[in-house]
Amino acid sequence: MPELPEVQTILDAITPLVQGRTIEGVTVLWPGTVDRPAPELFADSLRGRTIVGSHRRGKYMLFALDDARWLLLHLRMTGELRVVPGDVALHPHDRLLIHLEGNEDWRFKDTRKFGRAYLVEQPEEVVGGLGPEPLDEVFSAEYLMARLQGRTAPIKSLLLDQRLVAGIGNIYADEALFRARIHPLRPGGSLSAAELAALVEAVRAVIRQALAEMGTTLRDYRRPDGSIGSFQNSLQVFQRTDEPCPSCGAPIRRIVVGGRSTHFCPVEQK
Ligand SMILES: [Zn+2]
Repeated sequence: MPELPEVQTILDAITPLVQGRTIEGVTVLWPGTVDRPAPELFADSLRGRTIVGSHRRGKYMLFALDDARWLLLHLRMTGELRVVPGDVALHPHDRLLIHLEGNEDWRFKDTRKFGRAYLVEQPEEVVGGLGPEPLDEVFSAEYLMARLQGRTAPIKSLLLDQRLVAGIGNIYADEALFRARIHPLRPGGSLSAAELAALVEAVRAVIRQALAEMGTTLRDYRRPDGSIGSFQNSLQVFQRTDEPCPSCGAPIRRIVVGGRSTHFCPVEQK
């Protein structure tokens, strides 16, 4: 599933292809992809609009329209965005076509069909419940201390909770906990101020590095031009079960936490 660095990389590639362009029409191939409003109204409301800007919040892409409304996209597990000439043959997993002026299509392909599109007056209708961005100064040891007080859930699960911090998924949670040398099963409320400070720094470092390396390509994730990210080469524990820990050489262990595959160094992560 694309996490913050992958979503930002995709957004950075798509924005120059769609910004300033007018939408001539919309074809909804899979109604379930349109979360709100109803697919017919979604299509009618987008016709004639121009995309005037974009930004990211958590794992959502937000596109500002010239009527002050917003088109939000969430790729979930397998969503992909491309801009192609309108006469390119459809893919069987194309779910939503946004026809741009100049006979080009902005296509949302999504094998698993969990991806969603939203057309809203205010982005907060969708993203209002998200926690701070990990690179925002609001995300600090003090913030985590206050929010995690008394929490018994494993820190791994808490890092995946988008209401606590936005944009982190399975890959970067495992990598950040390794860098901070914190065991993924530690109850959130048990972490000391020093551990929380180390965790905040680890999250920031791993997200910054993954942004610089254009994300992690393990299976589905591709940049819109078809190229892949390179952070998979920088992974220290994620999906490296039984390989030697890059720091101490102990075999990396895999456990399941909250239903999610979790990788850690059993010697150094306390
Ligand atoms: Zn180790």
